[in-house]
This record gives sequence, structure tokens and C-alpha cells, in this order.
Amino acid sequence: MTKQYDVVVIGAGPGGLTAALYASRANLKVAILDRGIYGGQMNNTAEIENYPGFEGIMGPDLAEKMYRSATQFGAEYQYGNVVGVEVDAQGLKHIVTDNDEFVTAAVIIATGSQPRKLGIPGEEAYSGRGVSYCAVCDGAFYRQKQVTVVGGGNSAIEEGLYLANVTDGVQVVHRRDQLRAEQLLQERAFDNERMRFTWHSQVTAIVGDERKVTGVQVYDRQTDQTRTVPTDGVFIYVGAEPMTAMFKNLNITDDAGWILTDEQMQTTIPGIYAIGDVRQKQLRQITTAVGDGGIAGQAVFNYVAQLK
Ligand code: FAD
Repeated sequence: MTKQYDVVVIGAGPGGLTAALYASRANLKVAILDRGIYGGQMNNTAEIENYPGFEGIMGPDLAEKMYRSATQFGAEYQYGNVVGVEVDAQGLKHIVTDNDEFVTAAVIIATGSQPRKLGIPGEEAYSGRGVSYCAVCDGAFYRQKQVTVVGGGNSAIEEGLYLANVTDGVQVVHRRDQLRAEQLLQERAFDNERMRFTWHSQVTAIVGDERKVTGVQVYDRQTDQTRTVPTDGVFIYVGAEPMTAMFKNLNITDDAGWILTDEQMQTTIPGIYAIGDVRQKQLRQITTAVGDGGIAGQAVFNYVAQLK
């Protein structure tokens, strides 16, 4: 049976949960759909130190708090893997999941981003057997082991520091000769005896014994040499890509797939909003996703009110 709502929020990360909080508190009938557990990328984050109100909080704990807050005014959280959105002649939006259909006046897209893959030999084959994109999920498997972190931005260094606490040692392989991560994280990483750095180098293959990862092939761009470095695990943090393939028909993204919006978070289609990491924006963080969510939650109230 088709389900009817004022607003359907697609994605229950920090952006979607905040939008649902604002829209349901304004008395709209709201559904939040997610194909996984609520919390989005916060579930893949160890300690968060830059979300105001908490000096430090583990990602999954913040996810739990946001979920409780988001559902206290009646927003309904439901499982749903969204495969498409269509707009009919009356301007109603039809959201199709792999087992359901929802009809709604407005949609807030909050599907975030996913880790970018390196696309190198061994990455796919050893995924879950030594290759990971989530230190907080998999770090504990590497107690008394050596791991490699690929990347040099905030996520790589934050999660590298977490892994340095859990494992025996972390090798960071970065293609430049300096990190991109913020200064505070860099200082902590350079002061940490369990972290080593391999500069101007790229991981070009992940090697193993068929069962698990045993090493990485590292290409040094300065010397033009490739060597194999033993490692028990590889954690990859080389950026993110938007989760927008299912909205292609709407024509609301830039060439790279990030959704374009105005200041009210509205796309070029009236009643379709986008918030958080999935938007084309400068800073992809929990604070900015939450800010976008508040704006869209309020804007959607005005949109629905003028239809009635
Ligand atoms: P997301 O958190 O990405 O949530 C999107 C949700 O949409 C997911 O739950 C997903 O399952 C769902 N979804 C996707 N596609 C579909 C579909 N087709 N159907 C249904 N549901 C779908 N930020 C900070 O502020 N501080 C930090 O310390 C920090 N550390 C980080 C560490 C790591 C390792 C990573 C990866 C990110 C970190 N970030 C940090 C960034 C922060 O997590 C993101 O900016 C934030 O989670 C974005 O929120 P969002 O709501 O836009 O999307």
C-alpha cells in the first residue's frame, strides 16, 4: 500500500535526523528512510571532538542521541533503500524503495557520501579481509598488529590516531610531502610514537595470501621505486563521493554528482531539498549537515503550508 506523508527525508545521518526533528516539531507528518542503521557516517567515526556541546563523544553515541531527539515529535523511522524519485503532474513526489512506495508533498535528500575507493588491485578482493574504510568498526581486529592508513586529510589522521591507540603501529602513506589535515591533528600525529609517515608515495596494490592482507605495494613518486611493505590491515581515507545515482533523472546535480541547492536548501525542483554531505559545498562535517537540516526542516514547513 502506498504511504502518504508531508515530508519524506531520505537518509538518517545527522543532516536527515535534524531535518526530521524540525519538520515533525512543526507538526508535519514525516518519515525518515534509511537503508542502514540511523546515524550515517557517524557510525564510522571514532571520537568526535568538534561537535559543540560535547568535549568528545564517540560517533555511534552521538548517532543514538540524535536519533532519540529526531523521533521525539512523531517522525517515523523506517527501513527503505530508495531506488528512485518521480514527480507527478500535481507536483507530488513518489519515492520508490526496493519494497515500497511513498507519496509525499516534499522530499529532503540527505543521502550523504560514501568513501572513495582507490581502485587498485587487491582492494576489492581483500575488502573485509584486511581492507577497511572504518577504523571504529574494524580497528579492534588489529590489536598487536601493524596497519597502513592511506590518505592525509582530517579523516585519515583522525582515524589513524584512533588506530595508533588500538594497534601496535600505523604507517600513513600519503601522496604529497605534507598532510592536509588540520594543524591540531597533525601535531598529535607527529607526536605519536606509534605513527610513521611515508611521504610522496602511493599504494598501488594490496597483496595477500588469498585469506588475508599481508602487505601493500608502495610507489615512491620521488625515487620512482616500488616496494612491498608488510602490513596486516589497510584503512583507506582518500575522500568521498556523493550518493546520488538514484536521483539522476531529476537533473539536480553538478557534473561530479553533488546536488545544487539555494540558501533554503531547495533544488531546482520545488519541494525537493538536499542537505548535508550530498550537497555541493565547501565543508562536509556534522555541524554543517545539522545546519542544513535545520534550514530545510523549516523551509519545508513553509512549502507544505502554501500548498494547503
Ligand atoms: P551521512 O552521515 O553520510 O548519512 C547518509 C545516510 O543516508 C546514511 O545513513 C545512508 O545509509 C543513507 N542512504 C544513502 N543512500 C540511501 C538510499 N538510496 N536509500 C536510503 N538511505 C540511503 N564530521 C565531523 O563533524 N567531525 C568529525 O570528527 C568527523 N569525522 C569523520 C570521520 C570519518 C571516518 C568520516 C567518514 C567522516 C567524518 N566526519 C566528521 C564527516 C561527517 O561524518 C559527515 O559530514 C556527516 O555524517 C554527513 O552527514 P549527512 O547527514 O549529510 O550524511
